[in-house]
Amino acid sequence: MDFEDQRKKMVKRLLERGYISRLEVARAMEKVPRHLFVPKDLEGSAYLDTPLYIGEGQTISAPHMVGIMVEALEIRPGMRILEVGGGSGYHAAVMGEMARPGGRVYSVERIGVLAERAKKNLKEAGYGEVVTTVVADGSRGLPEFAPFDRICVAAAAPAIPEPLKQQLTDGGKLLIPVGGRWYQDLISVDRKREGYLEANLGGCVFVPLIGEYGYKD
Ligand code: SAH
Repeated sequence: MDFEDQRKKMVKRLLERGYISRLEVARAMEKVPRHLFVPKDLEGSAYLDTPLYIGEGQTISAPHMVGIMVEALEIRPGMRILEVGGGSGYHAAVMGEMARPGGRVYSVERIGVLAERAKKNLKEAGYGEVVTTVVADGSRGLPEFAPFDRICVAAAAPAIPEPLKQQLTDGGKLLIPVGGRWYQDLISVDRKREGYLEANLGGCVFVPLIGEYGYKD
């Protein structure tokens, strides 16, 4: 199977459908080998625009959702990024690719076996240096490594966790799905000197954020 060819076609479709438009985003998604982040038996479906099961009842987000989020985050080289809900590690790899050189992604995952697997996937794909995986409740952010230029939450919260807003730099940006368990709105929060500016980027569906500032298990 020619994964590189499939990957190019996937990115072309994301561009055609308007999910992504920035060259840096297209380049990053053309580079990160998504097939290394899904279970072996689903490798053949890695470049379809769909979420896939990665075990423990969790999913790797669909490529268009990763595209929409990465595009909205406006990631630049050198940025310090927090990802909450690391899952397979794929999304973190795409952000790591865009933050190079000089940047760093801290990817927090609450399920230990997934974090272990993500760490292995990231190393194999060449992102072991730029992405640090951490097992913790990411709804509280990661105070020991704060502040962050960007925070990307890949799980749905009932409301925006206050600690995440507080862990943004001045000029920082947070993206988070907020709403009910089965349907949410993707909310962006910009931290400015005069306060926080919120915008609704549209509907989405994510697995729940479970933790102190998320849903209770
Ligand atoms: N970005 C991932 C997909 C995320 S799926 C990828 O590219 O594969 C959402 C993940 O959030 C799940 O793995 C789930 O276990 C995790 N999660 C849920 N609540 C969390 C919390 N409080 N802290 C950290 N991770 C959490």
